[in-house]
Amino acid sequence: MEIGVMFWAGRDNLAELRALGVQSGQLGVGGEISLTAAEAAAWREAIAEAGFSIATVVCAYTGEDYADIPTVQRTVGFIPPATREAREQRTIEASDFAAALGVKSIACHIGFVPDDHRDPDYIAVRGMVRRICDRAEEHGQTFALETGQEPADTLLRFLDDAACPNLKINFDPANMILYGSGDPIEAYEKLAPQVVSVHAKDGDWPPSDKPGALGTERPLGQGAVGIPRFVDALKRAGYKGSVNVEREIENQAQRLADIRMAVRLLKDLGV
Ligand code: MG
Repeated sequence: MEIGVMFWAGRDNLAELRALGVQSGQLGVGGEISLTAAEAAAWREAIAEAGFSIATVVCAYTGEDYADIPTVQRTVGFIPPATREAREQRTIEASDFAAALGVKSIACHIGFVPDDHRDPDYIAVRGMVRRICDRAEEHGQTFALETGQEPADTLLRFLDDAACPNLKINFDPANMILYGSGDPIEAYEKLAPQVVSVHAKDGDWPPSDKPGALGTERPLGQGAVGIPRFVDALKRAGYKGSVNVEREIENQAQRLADIRMAVRLLKDLGV
């Protein structure tokens, strides 16, 4: 396993990340980030210069809002019909951008996948996912769906049904808790054969007296995931990929301090 970091174009810089004790990570590109060939060339140079490697390009989209569960359902990923076409095109561009960087995986949140395979939203999203997988395949990439917005069984059924050999999972244990989607260790054990990358993130369950609220993200080791038992589960499954620390708070100084502490915790746990 390799310890990495989930970082964002336009927010983080590679020298700062290197100073946290990591040499690899997943590059997040928000909808405002240019994905031109020139931009890819600049990134390629910066990565080489910093001695950094990128495991995944992660797509986020303009207009997404993670305020609470109903807002996520309305705005995130491939579920909202009005932005489907633009987000599919954007994800295809991200695949091409990743290819220009020599990155072998792309990922995103596709949003809440309906449980019913006859639901028109389910059918539309499955079509998008298949077309994106086809482009990723041309580049020799996996397309990884981030976990959390649905229980493990729903996600597995969707993967099975989409039937794309390069459709995989980016497993985020905290999201399982934040969205109330199930015990993260049980979920990981079900999904492990399809997991190509992992987030190291922690959090607490949603409050029981506020329907629709998300749980609260916490610094690694301080939430309900049980990071030592999660790392044990990764080891038991023989996971060999990257374990990317993710911290999603606004305050950048605190965020970097929390990432540094998380990297140390993972090293202490033998990642
Ligand atoms: Mg995540």
